[in-house]
Amino acid sequence: MQDLIDSALARIQSAVNADELEAVRVEFLGRKGKLADLSKDMGKLSPAERAERGKFINAAKKSIEEAYEARKQSFDAAALAILLDAEWLDLTVPAAGVKPGALHPITQIQWEIEDLFRSLGFTVLDGPEVETEYHNFDALNIPAHHPARDMQDTFWLEGGNLLRTHTSPVQVRGMERLGPPLRMIAPGRTFRNEEVDASHEHTFYQVEGMMVDRDVSVAHLIYFMKTLLSAIFKREVTVRLRPGYFPFVEPGFELDIRCLICGGPGCAVCKQSGWVELLPCGLVHPNVLLMSGIDPDQWGGFAFGLGLTRLAMMRYGIDDIRLLQGGDLRFLSQF
Ligand SMILES: [Zn+2]
Repeated sequence: MQDLIDSALARIQSAVNADELEAVRVEFLGRKGKLADLSKDMGKLSPAERAERGKFINAAKKSIEEAYEARKQSFDAAALAILLDAEWLDLTVPAAGVKPGALHPITQIQWEIEDLFRSLGFTVLDGPEVETEYHNFDALNIPAHHPARDMQDTFWLEGGNLLRTHTSPVQVRGMERLGPPLRMIAPGRTFRNEEVDASHEHTFYQVEGMMVDRDVSVAHLIYFMKTLLSAIFKREVTVRLRPGYFPFVEPGFELDIRCLICGGPGCAVCKQSGWVELLPCGLVHPNVLLMSGIDPDQWGGFAFGLGLTRLAMMRYGIDDIRLLQGGDLRFLSQF
């Protein structure tokens, strides 16, 4: 019987892995194992022999179990060491986490402009993207026969409505709803039937601005435009006005800014002129005021239209307009 214990202990010591160790345990300590066999015929023994056999079995069980547990712990420790080695973590590395989103560059500029104009006492208005022909054209002094309509080809819908070609109809809605005096801007999405290329899109963004009050002059217009552009480009800008024709203003201007790249001497961006054409503006045409129920003898105003898409391209040096609508995260994640 001592041989049985010795052989079990030797087998436990020589087991090379946890599976082999488990096999030894089953062989000696299992329900049908060798120690169990020894207790099977105990009923045939005399009480004295039975007591001795029982003592032996208990002692054998204890020493085999102890040896088994010790060996098993060494296997477990080795397995854990291997696991720790393989799955080692550098807890000082920052967690990947959820990537933070960001606002689209056009939205960023739009919000900056809204903040600026609110601080100057302007209201921010919204208008429908599906417009009536009247609000998009007629009320802005562009009747059906007017050639200016050709420059704003758009998508016509059933029932005479259209996708608005500019944010200017919101001027009309603002005047109709709020009346004078009025200070408003209207940022939003606009549409044209354009052949899409690097500098043309069928969908783009504008911000329209208008101030109607008594004695509004070109000086007010220049002041607000300089304030706006200096805030956007984060430096003092020099502006100039050239005569320009837009049916809804009289007089109408093209506003240029001194080239921000070369500062005046001329470069490729300003086509060697030192100036960059930026936005159309002017004093509101009396017909436009009249059509919205405002007396042009009592009230006057200025208006401007600014291309938000173009502004974003200038500020960030984006050379392809299609990137702005493309939804490519490699592009968008830079802002
Ligand atoms: Zn230049």
